Amino acid sequence: MDRILEISPVDRIAVVEPGVVNAVLSRAVGEHGLYYPPDPSSWETCTIGGNIGTASGGLCCVKYGVTAEYVLGLEVVLADGRLLSTGRRTAKGVAGYDLTRLFVGSEGSLGIVVKAVLALRPKPPRQLVLAAEFPSAAAACDAVCAIMERGHTPSLLEIMDRTTIRAVNAMAQMGLPDTTEALLLAAFDTADPGPDLAAAGELCAAAGATQVVPPRTRPSPSCCSRPAGCR
Ligand SMILES: Cc1cc2nc3c(=O)[nH]c(=O)nc-3n(C[C@H](O)[C@H](O)[C@H](O)COP(=O)(O)OP(=O)(O)OC[C@H]3O[C@@H](n4cnc5c(N)ncnc54)[C@H](O)[C@@H]3O)c2cc1C
Repeated sequence: MDRILEISPVDRIAVVEPGVVNAVLSRAVGEHGLYYPPDPSSWETCTIGGNIGTASGGLCCVKYGVTAEYVLGLEVVLADGRLLSTGRRTAKGVAGYDLTRLFVGSEGSLGIVVKAVLALRPKPPRQLVLAAEFPSAAAACDAVCAIMERGHTPSLLEIMDRTTIRAVNAMAQMGLPDTTEALLLAAFDTADPGPDLAAAGELCAAAGATQVVPPRTRPSPSCCSRPAGCR
């Protein structure tokens, strides 16, 4: 059950079977100028059925939310073999109990999803990523609070502590600065991300960042969970 049954740019939905791999769906909707935001780091291998089962999210959830926000409707086979349809395929659909949400995150315990109606968004501009090094994880957290408190909406906001940085370097040889105590990545995917990036950089410095590396070019594929070309 790995077919994409429908992609509708008019309704901004995709109708899929549960075995569709997240990355396959993301690339397919991208060809229509659309975007399926839930992006667990396992996106190259995990399925939409598994994403629904675990209510997964990824780096972009700070702006776009997690799987639950994008599942509009489901077809589910219940334990006694009945086929249950939940939800909608319209932008608005507020009548009745929200059974769709009940199934999202239920890990297959309530039934087996055999079809899903997923909401899509217009594909945003490619994000630009700023990196900042901090002398402590607490200082990096202060920067996160300042960025959010000032009303910025990053498309990615990720802290890595020193243990994590070293583990990533050991596994993926990414060349991250492994003498720093904490690394903060902040990205913006608006049409003009410059002012947000500049303000985020200043807030990082005010929170004690020892180094702020602004994006001079488009981000490298390793800067975010999604490889180049996806967005
Ligand atoms: C390397 C790695 C990185 C990850 N990164 C993230 C991350 O950044 N963010 C995050 O939130 N999660 C992350 N995860 C966990 C993530 O939630 C899962 O990878 C993914 O959502 C599971 O999809 P899967 O296809 O592997 O499902 P499986 O592992 O096969 O199943 C997951 C659950 O869903 C249920 N399920 C599967 N299909 C159906 C179906 N058709 N109907 C009903 N239930 C079903 C299963 O019974 C099981 O309980 C990561 C996992 C890995 C291994």
